[in-house]
Amino acid sequence: MSETPMTAAAPSGRVSIVTGAARGIGAAVARRLASDGFAVGVLDLDEAACAGTVGAIEAAGGRAVAVGVDVADADGVAAAVARVAETLGGPTVLVNNAGITRDNLLFKMTEDDWDSVMNVHLRGSFLMSRACQKYMTEAKWGRIVNLSSTSALGNRGQANYSAAKAGLQGFTKTLAIELGKFGVTVNAIAPGFIQTDMTKATAERLGVPFEAFIEHSAKEIPVARVGQPEDIAATVSFFARDEAGFVSGQVVYVAGGPKD
Ligand code: NAP
Repeated sequence: MSETPMTAAAPSGRVSIVTGAARGIGAAVARRLASDGFAVGVLDLDEAACAGTVGAIEAAGGRAVAVGVDVADADGVAAAVARVAETLGGPTVLVNNAGITRDNLLFKMTEDDWDSVMNVHLRGSFLMSRACQKYMTEAKWGRIVNLSSTSALGNRGQANYSAAKAGLQGFTKTLAIELGKFGVTVNAIAPGFIQTDMTKATAERLGVPFEAFIEHSAKEIPVARVGQPEDIAATVSFFARDEAGFVSGQVVYVAGGPKD
């Protein structure tokens, strides 16, 4: 697990929330925001699974709390955000990162495949943003970063996921328009291939060894490598800074090229 030195980009006392932060991109984002000086609410489905992320942040001198929540559950989200506010302070940075895939070609895609993906990505980001915005508008400062994907441009076997990730781009632009006058910026990051359990599961579904999948994918990417969770964390870190306050409603493709 890489450690980033404490750089204190954030004024002390600022609090962030990262969803899906037990592993993968979310864990790297949580560690990076902590090293930038934010206290971090580490949210994931399984509270116990957040221990690794919280432990890494505390070992590096940061503050964090683990909270178990299903982001698609309205009461659970309200309780989770309240718990972060009571423990660390009101959250003014939110990273909507929790995500799932339920890939299938259209004729095989079930209603449950469709609804599950919509619920986590779209309903989850809506509920989390609605619960956190009051702390941001009260503080007259805030940052929301939504995780979209290059799949928003279309990807075979991902009608549900690509629709959700494209939907998040519209959600991002609309929140940017509504919340800008309160000092709140809202942006999206659309990653290409990032090496995590999610892409490992895709390789398994395709029946390809993960290493071979990575090697093959890297050949198609202009910078000739796949992405790492830290590549996304660095982009979140930029959006969360005071000096990024004039950047809002944008979608940044972090994909090693114009697209994956
Ligand atoms: P990951 O390794 O699968 O991690 C996702 C995390 O989200 C897991 O810890 C998962 O918990 C959690 N989660 C799932 N459903 C949840 C829910 N309802 N409530 C709370 N937490 C939930 O995925 P990742 O690769 O880091 O991806 C993170 C984000 O980036 C996702 O939004 C994904 O769509 C997006 N993205 C990833 C890539 C990529 O190449 N990896 C590319 C583009 C976009 P469990 O482990 O308990 O399920």
